[in-house]
Amino acid sequence: MSTTPADKEPRAVREIRINPIVPSESVLVATARSMRPRKAEDPAPRDTRSHVDTCPFCRGNEDQTPPELLRVPADGEWRIRIVENLYPVLGSDPAPRGLSFGLQQAIDGYGRHEVIVDHAKHGIGIHEMDDSHLHLLFSTYQSRMRALYDMDARLRYVLVFKNFGPAAGASMAHTHSQIIATPVVPQNVHDEVTHSQQYYQKHHHCIFCTLIDEALTFETTIYDRESGEVVRQINVGQYVVERSERFIAIKPFASRYEWEVHILPLKHEASYLDADEADMADLARLFRRTMARLDAVIGGAQYNFFLHTRPRSNDYPGSEASYHWHLEICPRTSIPTGFELGSGLFVNTVSPEEAAESLRKVSLPD
Ligand SMILES: [Zn+2]
Ligand SMILES: [Zn+2]
Repeated sequence: MSTTPADKEPRAVREIRINPIVPSESVLVATARSMRPRKAEDPAPRDTRSHVDTCPFCRGNEDQTPPELLRVPADGEWRIRIVENLYPVLGSDPAPRGLSFGLQQAIDGYGRHEVIVDHAKHGIGIHEMDDSHLHLLFSTYQSRMRALYDMDARLRYVLVFKNFGPAAGASMAHTHSQIIATPVVPQNVHDEVTHSQQYYQKHHHCIFCTLIDEALTFETTIYDRESGEVVRQINVGQYVVERSERFIAIKPFASRYEWEVHILPLKHEASYLDADEADMADLARLFRRTMARLDAVIGGAQYNFFLHTRPRSNDYPGSEASYHWHLEICPRTSIPTGFELGSGLFVNTVSPEEAAESLRKVSLPD
């Protein structure tokens, strides 16, 4: 017999939650211990050194990287560099024609793959960078994205992302982001854009703006259908992790990852290319604070983040009103199992409501 009174334990959640934007992407939230997938126990610790003599991304070794594409600032000591990827997953050379047979179709692996050296300090965490540096980093993402769209009309999407830590698949310890520009719009961006267009046609409102409004103001009580008892009370701001003048960090109701957080501009904006300098400054601070919360709660966050923004305007007419750019941060704390691979259902073992509360509780110096 358990000695802990049942009412003292947090309510176990076991439910399939549907992603409101892309309903085919659902999540099994199962907090019962038996459902726990293998934890990424003791992931290889991340490298926290500030300078490594043999690292090609560290200052002084600039001649060891592939060709430099951009240096910020242009003169004097660099703060951010963009170089070609040494092992590009897509090539800019004309590739052999895609092979197709029967039902098997292939598209040429044409595209661009670039590396952004985020900071001169080798193992610095995002939450340890200062706001002015993060502002510069976000502006650099934007200017490079714009340059790639301008230089090559065949590129349909420019994806900016970051892998941080070995658990997140980063092969270089030096802090860096990546840009992959592809001749097709990635399927999950396409799904988000088209589903939000359908929502807009029905409701004449952006679904992301609706989700933000819900996160800020929603309050509801869920009753048991048979007994009529209160099952759950959803409170105002329950999903809000951090909020600033222009941005909000939300714990999604259907979070695929235990500590997943999304950052969105509060004001409707379809494209990251439309964010102005004041947006970037505000985003930098909110982002740093969000990452500091994650790092404090998880204890050394290893994560992927990526930017979802409206593709080229003529590809999705009307998406200006229906799509809303955002940043998805996915800390990696567990390893997907056969159940996840076989079912396509993500398993999340931490209730998003409790995760949001833990993240909000972290007290930050500023
Ligand atoms: Zn380095
Ligand atoms: Zn919106």
